[in-house]
Amino acid sequence: MIIDTVCTYCGVGCDISFKTDNRQIIKAFAKKEGTVSRGKLCIKGRKGWEYLYSPYRIKKPRIKKSFIEKHINYFPEHIRSQIKNLTDFDKNFYEADFSLTCEIVAWKLKQIKEMYSPYAVAGIGGARTNCESAYLFQKFIRKYIGSPHIDNCARVCHSPSLKGMRTTIGEGAATNPFDDIYKTEFIIVIGSNTTEAHPIVANRIIDAVRNGTELAVIDVREIPLSKFAHHHLTIPFESNLLVLNMMSRVIIEENLYNEGFIRQRVKDFEEFREKILTDPFSDPELFRKVKGYEYLSEKIRDVARKYATKKSMILWGLGITEHIDGSYSVMAITHLAMLTGNVGKEGAGLMPLRGQNNVQGACDMGCLPYFDPDYRTPEETGLMTPDIIDAVLDGKIKAIYNLGEDIAHIHPNQNKIHRALQKLEFLVVNEIFPNEITEYADVIFGVKSAYEKEGVYINAERRLHLSQPVIFSDLPDDWEVLSEIAKRMGIQVQYKKSEDIWNEVRREAPVRFSGASYEKLKQNRLKGLQWPVKETDTPVLHVNQFRTEDGYGRFHYKQWEIRGMVKELLQKGEYEDFYLTTGRNLIHYNNAAQTKECISLISKISEDTVYASEKDREKLRNASKVILLSQYGETEPLKLKFVSFLKEGTLFTTFHFAKSKINYLFGDESDTFVKTARFKSVKVKVIPVH
Ligand code: SF4
Repeated sequence: MIIDTVCTYCGVGCDISFKTDNRQIIKAFAKKEGTVSRGKLCIKGRKGWEYLYSPYRIKKPRIKKSFIEKHINYFPEHIRSQIKNLTDFDKNFYEADFSLTCEIVAWKLKQIKEMYSPYAVAGIGGARTNCESAYLFQKFIRKYIGSPHIDNCARVCHSPSLKGMRTTIGEGAATNPFDDIYKTEFIIVIGSNTTEAHPIVANRIIDAVRNGTELAVIDVREIPLSKFAHHHLTIPFESNLLVLNMMSRVIIEENLYNEGFIRQRVKDFEEFREKILTDPFSDPELFRKVKGYEYLSEKIRDVARKYATKKSMILWGLGITEHIDGSYSVMAITHLAMLTGNVGKEGAGLMPLRGQNNVQGACDMGCLPYFDPDYRTPEETGLMTPDIIDAVLDGKIKAIYNLGEDIAHIHPNQNKIHRALQKLEFLVVNEIFPNEITEYADVIFGVKSAYEKEGVYINAERRLHLSQPVIFSDLPDDWEVLSEIAKRMGIQVQYKKSEDIWNEVRREAPVRFSGASYEKLKQNRLKGLQWPVKETDTPVLHVNQFRTEDGYGRFHYKQWEIRGMVKELLQKGEYEDFYLTTGRNLIHYNNAAQTKECISLISKISEDTVYASEKDREKLRNASKVILLSQYGETEPLKLKFVSFLKEGTLFTTFHFAKSKINYLFGDESDTFVKTARFKSVKVKVIPVH
């Protein structure tokens, strides 16, 4: 039997097909007619389902023994009478019946609401599940609990893309389909190691280059795409905004901007022009004084000229967003598009490469403290995750409901997060496998994975796919857990199947989803539909006007602030210690929760490795292992490899394995507007270990 569904690992969101026999998966593959996959999957698509058969899946709800002991005398009779039915799981947890567990969670959440206030409860997560569950999650927190504190893992990835794009062009999502990569003449990839993080998009870029498209790669290191690039620019750490502003200045100074487009579609150009032309940090000549990066003065000009005079696209990833000026850098990217008219048409546009499939959906569904579904303004703005953590430490937030987001691994400032989790009065987690956060959970619900359920997922090009179960599971979907808890809190909840919730989404978020019925999505299983979906879908946004209130785009200039590596190189011509950046590899996804349970994947890479420049071999005493140390924390000893793709004094590592403790190195430095952590730059000392 062949079952068509969607891969939910990365934001590419490939259509994926499974050959099954007697409800067992034989293999995963992609069909040639698949719009996203075009018949190809990366290794996570081909092998990343093996976790479904892992013995470590959470099969039954678990309740912490210490939680039961603490509350045994306070439970109401209908709960106390059933406590004897709990069975031992391990030294910390009991296993429990699903219904009893929902009763306990409902009772405890109600108690916290009544003893403190609804504001003492927060919800974190929603991007790792389907839209139906994400929608119900924000409704559960906002309406059933009465708290505005709902957030998802876009906080640690693309919230700056949402902020930057909405500020300038009114919509925080990719403007064009991935296939427009084949229709463009010039591509800039900035802050994205596309080959490893979004491999099927990287395939398109390489194909396009082979067919004559010109490619520029801008990054703090050489990446696999660099060898295909006509222009590779290794830039200093934290200089994205600096470089992007310089490109805009070149386009203005050399009169390469599209005057007609600006006149018709954009406001505030004169003010923008004035600011950029008088900004000492927008002149590419500045790089002549930055030791080791002098060549950028000319290279930036070359790339700006090409971008302005060709039909061009810009793709970016977390290398742009995970900085203190991530939102401003996204605005600077949109400035380039608005200046040159490279937006609102086929083959020209803007493409934030979202981290995982459905992080776009979780934001669209309103799992953000400042947006309801469809990006409406909520009655009340809630706290962002870093503020939720502070509120826990201040004693204001007592309970967190966590929907598949391992904040005890993937968020920054882990020493602080672990202190907060210890302080929480009540933590509920929906998960597939035990991980760092389930250690702290009072209650864990084992839930269906994406390959076991039906629901809508939205990828990085706004494309909705409807998943369907590949194998049978008797575990609940996330939305079923939330519904059952809500019912036990006395709330009338009448969803019988995921489609019931989706139909509510279509009513509550009509701007984007009114026409996206399950029926239509089933008919387009291999293609999907790009929102907004009415009678038809919308491959290209901003065709005649921007999606701002008045239809005009806006420039929003921000001068780059001198700091970090550039400051040190300008002032001293050198710096001590190392600048570290982090990212993913092709094999694993994020906290590796699922991928490390796949034999074919974990057998390839089973630990995080630090990469350093060959030129630093002597300085690092040819060590085979190192400990990294920042002002916030330190890692465990990590394998060290010397490579040629990094510049002297810079390091790269992945963060997939919690035991490495990479995210202990980061503090609270984060994006000015949306608090996305500065994961892409931290100064570290390197201690060789022999
Ligand atoms: Fe899955 Fe992304 Fe690989 Fe496609 S590129 S198969 S969505 S992990």
